[in-house]
Amino acid sequence: MPLRLFNTMSSQVEEFHPLRDSEVRMYACGPTVYDYGHIGNFRTFIAIDLLRRFLRQSGYKIQHVMNITDVDDKIIRNSARDGVTVQQYTAKYEKAFLEDAAMLGIEQPTLVRATEHIPEMAQFVAKLVEKGFAYRADDGSYYFRIAKFPRYGKLSKKDFSSMLDGARVDVDEYDKDSARDFALWKAPKPGEASWDTVIGPGRPGWHLECSVMSMEELGESFDLHAGGEDLIFPHHENEIAQSESLTGKPFAHFWFHARFLLVEGEKMSKSLGNFFTPRDLVLKGHKPSSIRYLLASVPYRNQLNFTFDGLKQAAVSVDRLRNFRLRLSAGNFADGSNPQMQTLATETGDRMRAALDDDLNTAQAQAAIFEMVRQANTAFDTGSVMKDDVPPLLAALEKFDEVFAVLHDDDIPKMKQVLQWAQTEGREKDISQELRDAVQSAHLSDADIEAKIADMRAARTSRDFKKSDAIRAELAEAGILVEITKDGIRWRRR
Ligand code: AMP
Ligand code: ZN
Repeated sequence: MPLRLFNTMSSQVEEFHPLRDSEVRMYACGPTVYDYGHIGNFRTFIAIDLLRRFLRQSGYKIQHVMNITDVDDKIIRNSARDGVTVQQYTAKYEKAFLEDAAMLGIEQPTLVRATEHIPEMAQFVAKLVEKGFAYRADDGSYYFRIAKFPRYGKLSKKDFSSMLDGARVDVDEYDKDSARDFALWKAPKPGEASWDTVIGPGRPGWHLECSVMSMEELGESFDLHAGGEDLIFPHHENEIAQSESLTGKPFAHFWFHARFLLVEGEKMSKSLGNFFTPRDLVLKGHKPSSIRYLLASVPYRNQLNFTFDGLKQAAVSVDRLRNFRLRLSAGNFADGSNPQMQTLATETGDRMRAALDDDLNTAQAQAAIFEMVRQANTAFDTGSVMKDDVPPLLAALEKFDEVFAVLHDDDIPKMKQVLQWAQTEGREKDISQELRDAVQSAHLSDADIEAKIADMRAARTSRDFKKSDAIRAELAEAGILVEITKDGIRWRRR
């Protein structure tokens, strides 16, 4: 079965076939780098990353381009407020975005920056003017003439038949239900960044950026265009209008939109105090792998309600998978194979593929791997996993992880980076004890800890309880919990 994906354009789940045989060309609207990205943004970027990884697993070569919006109204306003250039202002947040994406296991697409493609954008506007799709206003701004593009509204299914010809709007975020000629190019205002171009001075509108850069990188028609659901209108509607009126060809064939994330059932907002960046969560002591796992766990077209309970649950799930893998790779097994385990591994692979083929049903794919873990763990306990069962079970885990990317245990170094960042940003007070403990405990290798436990045992044998307690306190400080039982001393990392 080929991959079936929901296409916002047709409002249907369709079979996905790329325009070129073995290659998928996809474009994702990237972040506007005026602040740190929040977990809602990353829900969308993780959904796109899962799609990319699954397409690759399905045998396609991937050309995946993402823009960085490094000039817009907010950026211009904030950089002016801070007295720095647009470039200085955005560099910090672009870096932070890329760090966060890497922390969450998101593979980096080819990046294109708006400010590096200004001349091409001006050319694009000039051609639209030539064709009669755009006009220049008295102040030197350029607008797209919506009345010339009757298909306007076909993506968002809005009816604009009664719109006013020539009514204009020059902000990127406008009233969602009124169609207005939108700004392609904005004339300079005093104190704002602007560029000198063939159509005069000014700066590009946000919608123009994506049309120009996607077609430049991927061609006039390409396979898939992605973003969060808020981008359907006006952003993607406007991209289609600009691109298709220029080329006369269909722009993107599939439109992939991720549903918005809610936090504890509410819209995420600073005023509600439920606004989180990935860094905020790590500062509270949560692992990047738990965040990724949770954000990937709900299929992209369903509402994802982010909760701290869910995040804790995700941590347990990731641990279970990692422990299972450890058990497989470190265990001693009797020679031979168990046909049941062989079938289990194969069927799990098939179930995961079928789930992801079904419009990226990540929840079902996760359910399939957990069912395998459950059955294999039961078989472990009765000694019925054999040596030859290990490779196929590991291979099924590997298949899972090619898409979900949570098994590799590099949480602690990533958490340490966030801790250091908080220190340099003067956010010491936001660093939780849980994060400190996690990072501390990583300083000690298992062997270091065992050596200290041996000292503790020796101290206790010679009834030097003071010394034993001191070692125990030292370990606790480093996030290691020591338990003294009648069977001896046990320890674990907090
Ligand atoms: P922005 O940086 O605001 O341009 O957004 C970057 C991406 O995140 C876009 O694809 C948005 O649609 C998406 N996005 C913004 N807020 C949310 C949210 N709460 N849930 C899911 N995606 C979001
Ligand atoms: Zn875009």
